[in-house]
Amino acid sequence: MRAVLKPKVIVIDANASCQLRCPTCPTTSKGYPPVVGCGYLKSADFKKLLIDNPIIRSVSLNSRGEMFLNPELLSIVEWAFANDIPLSSDSGVNLNHAGAGVLEALVRCRFRSLCCSIDGATPETYCIYRIGGDFNRVIYHVRQINQYKRIYKSKYPRLIWQFVVFGHNEHELPMAKQLAAELGMGFQAKMSWDSSYSPIRNKGFVMREAGWQAGTREEFASLKGANYMRGVCFSLWHSPRINWDGKVLGCCWNSWQEFGGNVFKDGYIACANGENIDYARRMLLGRSPHRDDLPCSACKLYSEMRQSGRYLTESEIFGSLLYRLARAIYRGVRS
Ligand code: SF4
Ligand code: SF4
Repeated sequence: MRAVLKPKVIVIDANASCQLRCPTCPTTSKGYPPVVGCGYLKSADFKKLLIDNPIIRSVSLNSRGEMFLNPELLSIVEWAFANDIPLSSDSGVNLNHAGAGVLEALVRCRFRSLCCSIDGATPETYCIYRIGGDFNRVIYHVRQINQYKRIYKSKYPRLIWQFVVFGHNEHELPMAKQLAAELGMGFQAKMSWDSSYSPIRNKGFVMREAGWQAGTREEFASLKGANYMRGVCFSLWHSPRINWDGKVLGCCWNSWQEFGGNVFKDGYIACANGENIDYARRMLLGRSPHRDDLPCSACKLYSEMRQSGRYLTESEIFGSLLYRLARAIYRGVRS
């Protein structure tokens, strides 16, 4: 008999559209993928999901697009707070737009953490990649959040400055780290999704400033013998990724095929334990033969595993820093 997964955390897209046009964005650069669409999580669906599935005790509003473009975000944030459901958003918001009252509500309603994608420390450099974005407006929004945090005497939301490092912005890493510290933000430098776009120029400098052991994802793979993004697959076990319309996509990479089921109609636990997603887990552990009809079969990560024979292991899935951190945060936010 197989074990039934009962995740207490759900990762659901708040919004799949975006107002910016970052050149290598997987969501907007080739048009919105049909399975994902370009809609947003409705407040009524969100409330019904939480009411129908009381096992869910924490929600991560990660988005393929921009969370703040969800016109019902205020209602979602306030309802979750009133019902003791901690919210966070750790996949990166561009923070160029904030609807009336939303930033104040994030602080008042103890939204736990917000990761802000800011790839530069000056307006000129920032808008090279974040096309259509305005650096000064983003920093203004961060300062507004900080102002509300002072008014409410709250440490929430914890703010993270996420800086995707390119050749055109690497020289601003020290300035960005300093500004992040002044703004009370944590700082994390992230490797670019596509190392052929504006590749880094001064590798030694970047590795020192970013605290990396390798200069690109490819170098990381040859150094560690594993893909830089291998951890993406862990979400199939920890909290399968849900699209804004309830479809089960499993992870943040999959935008081409659903696993089956809809959390709004079928329930979260039933969807997290559907036949296809359960089989995919066994495939990724190397315990079941390849099946062509599953999303992982069209994925570079799984094909690398098949080629190398380096399938996932339970110890890396459940011993990962990410998982332990998520559990620690979950315990922390419940206290
Ligand atoms: S801000 Fe994010 S979602 Fe929007 S275009 Fe850029 S990478 Fe894509
Ligand atoms: S193999 Fe690809 S599609 Fe499957 S869980 Fe991993 S990243 Fe997602």
